[in-house]
Amino acid sequence: MLVNEALLGEVKEWRKQIHSQPELGFKEFKTSSFIIEKLQSFGIEVHQGLGGTGVVGTLKNGTGPTIGIRADIDALPIKELSDVAHKSTHENCMHACGHDGHTSILLGTAKHLSDNKNFSGTIHFIFQPAEEVLGGAKAMIDDGLFDKFPMDAVYGLHNWPGLPVGEIAVNNGPMMASFDTFEITLTGKGTHAAMPHLGADPIAAGAALITNIQSIISRRVSPLQAGVISVTQMNSGDTTNVIPEYAFLKGTVRSFDMDVRQSMQDMLVEMVATLPSLYGVKGEIDYHVRYPVTTNNSQAYLDIKDAASKVLGADKVKTNVEPSMASEDFSFMSQKVKGAYFWLGVDGSTPSKPLHNASYDFNDEAIETGIKVWVSLIETLLPKTSS
Ligand SMILES: [Zn+2]
Ligand SMILES: [Zn+2]
Repeated sequence: MLVNEALLGEVKEWRKQIHSQPELGFKEFKTSSFIIEKLQSFGIEVHQGLGGTGVVGTLKNGTGPTIGIRADIDALPIKELSDVAHKSTHENCMHACGHDGHTSILLGTAKHLSDNKNFSGTIHFIFQPAEEVLGGAKAMIDDGLFDKFPMDAVYGLHNWPGLPVGEIAVNNGPMMASFDTFEITLTGKGTHAAMPHLGADPIAAGAALITNIQSIISRRVSPLQAGVISVTQMNSGDTTNVIPEYAFLKGTVRSFDMDVRQSMQDMLVEMVATLPSLYGVKGEIDYHVRYPVTTNNSQAYLDIKDAASKVLGADKVKTNVEPSMASEDFSFMSQKVKGAYFWLGVDGSTPSKPLHNASYDFNDEAIETGIKVWVSLIETLLPKTSS
């Protein structure tokens, strides 16, 4: 399967254009308009307004299954440091996670499939807003994504620094961890620092809490399971001779297993309610359940593996790779319908900058691989019926 050279050149230009005008989650107005304009120019039916700035393009050709392919379209609140010609023109906003690449690859796939209808069935091209922290996938689902566009399966990709261009990685099982956050308030009793016994010290209670939270992972979660609890913020006090009234902690919880995730939440809540009381301090926690584990359905995993092997060669399709403790809201979609998600290699002759780095720039050499895998997946799952 060949992707037209002229199309590849065009897609690279789209990618640079999207890169130069990055927009934050749920504010992807220009990006959304750009996508709509392109899809319409390919003769694809467009539905807008799902999850605010989300767009669904539908391409139907005969009878056959219905497949969804999703790209995330949002950028990050980071000031771009590189000096490329297509550098961000929006202050403190950049495509540091490569969603410009994902969007362009899906647009290129849509154009290719619209020009070469070598399939029988329906494809929904899902352009999803606000992947970074805000859960745009869930917003689209809440707006009726799967009710208005019922589909047999949904697939997604993310570019992956560390993996060479021309390769992909896909697991039969977890790819990305679940993601929750918490905020803890410790209420003590302020006093003179020289007379701690007259108050209740929320800093001492907080220090004990931070240390003991790690015992949840080391002593109470099975050593054969994986979990992370990181306290990432601690704020308290203003000076050297006063024990303050309050201490505030924030952090995140990650896991690859929904039961482990639940038990970590339960144990953290229990510990915050009880441990600070040993210091005369009251502990309260706001626990926010955010993204589920991104785990691949066994059949959908095979679909990706087989489709990619056909066009890239089996040796370029890595399986059983170590999953990442980062997270992905594609998990909301693959919880609803059969789904799989793969990593697309972006390391060229020089390795890619890491994701979320201020000098990150999506490697355009990976565009061809992305389009090839999507087209192969469609042609494999939606074979053209001979008439
Ligand atoms: Zn990201
Ligand atoms: Zn991302």
